[in-house]
Amino acid sequence: MVRTRIAPSPTGFPHIGTVYQALFNYSFAKKNKGSFIVRVEDTDQTRIVPGAEEKIFEALDWFGLPEDESPRKGGDFGPYRQSERLEIYKKYLSELIEKGGAYFCFCTKERLDALRASQSAAKQPIMYDGNCRGLSLEEAKKRLSNEPHVARLKIPHTRKLITRDEIRGDVEFDPTLTEDSILMKSDFFPTYHFAVVVDDHLMKITHVIRGEEWLSSLPKHIVIYDYFGWEKPLFYHTPNLRNPDKSKLSKRHGHANIDWYRKEGFLPEAILNFLCLMGWSYPDQREEFDLSEFINLFDPKDLKPVGPIFDLTKLEWLNGVWIRNMSVQDLRKRLEKFYKDDKDFSVIFESRHIDLMIGLAQSRMKKLSEFRSLVIAPQKQRQFSEEEKETGKKLLGVLQEINHTDWREDIILNYLKNFRDEEGVSMKLIYFLITGREQGLPLIETMVKIEGRDQILENLKKRV
Ligand code: GLU
Repeated sequence: MVRTRIAPSPTGFPHIGTVYQALFNYSFAKKNKGSFIVRVEDTDQTRIVPGAEEKIFEALDWFGLPEDESPRKGGDFGPYRQSERLEIYKKYLSELIEKGGAYFCFCTKERLDALRASQSAAKQPIMYDGNCRGLSLEEAKKRLSNEPHVARLKIPHTRKLITRDEIRGDVEFDPTLTEDSILMKSDFFPTYHFAVVVDDHLMKITHVIRGEEWLSSLPKHIVIYDYFGWEKPLFYHTPNLRNPDKSKLSKRHGHANIDWYRKEGFLPEAILNFLCLMGWSYPDQREEFDLSEFINLFDPKDLKPVGPIFDLTKLEWLNGVWIRNMSVQDLRKRLEKFYKDDKDFSVIFESRHIDLMIGLAQSRMKKLSEFRSLVIAPQKQRQFSEEEKETGKKLLGVLQEINHTDWREDIILNYLKNFRDEEGVSMKLIYFLITGREQGLPLIETMVKIEGRDQILENLKKRV
């Protein structure tokens, strides 16, 4: 039974990287008829941002990546929020201490600060020096009740630390450069390193797919697994997403935040499609496919370890493809949702031509936000100059020559082309004169299908 998970920390806005991980973990679980779990890693209480957890679940819902087990859904392996599992970590920590895999450390902040300063001055690696490693358990226990303390992992210095990553192969770490990291803090909250191992074990996680920034923690996790004698899951560290200038797509960039994509009018399906292409490619190199096609084919071992370029221009293009491939009815539903709080749109969506307008707009927009400028004139319009008004008057005369029965696309097009050639003006100007706007839906279709002869002539008359 395949069980995968994401383990986000609720420390900020919903991050596109979380969706990237969720996509792979969800897809691999579904491919294998397994379970996808969301565990909230909130042990660093100082960094918790209120509302951040809800935002993560909102994002999963928006993308259509529903989890099988989580704090909100429950499950057989709960609780799924680490702050509610403190007793469990305490129990396993005592066990590890008894086994000699961890030890209590009483070093004060002052001592650690001084150590860090001297290591940094001597250009040595900054790490705990094992000062309390030699304390006997008996001695340590006597001091527990009246001295602040933490618990640290005892990294065995004599064995090779080899970690296996299913994408990158074996990676060897130097045990003497691997720190005796803190497993439990003085407030009795576990650290990431300890909680992640205990939970992945107890929650029976079979495949850990996560970002490459966690690869360097893996040797410590391996040591903990081995002390307990637990079977390890398979590990896959996915490449970090990069900006076109190769910098890391970090929290500083606006587009790391999922809310940004929603506001811009990207479709969740298109974003998922795009994310699939970050480190993975379809066997026939196809770029457009949906989630079910991906699920059928995806195996995390096929991910490429090199940082894929997160190119927003490409995402926009792909989003446009998804928009064009939608039925007008579907697109209308998306648009109605997108503009639901925008009062300018209540009239637009009531128009009897709405489906026509959407059909015409469909090929002209890459994002839902672009629908606005296609159907609604901007607040501040440029006024016609006197010269333009003169041209407008002539144009009105020409259009009036076309009678009701001739008000057809091919005929109007001929008239407009002749007018353009005779007057030596641009189609852009003609567009502006007729619609009163610099851009919008295709002209001829608007004149025939949406506005009609009378409306067009009346508007033009008013403006010139
Ligand atoms: N809590 C870690 C995070 O915020 C999880 C890392 C992991 O998946 O092991 O990403």
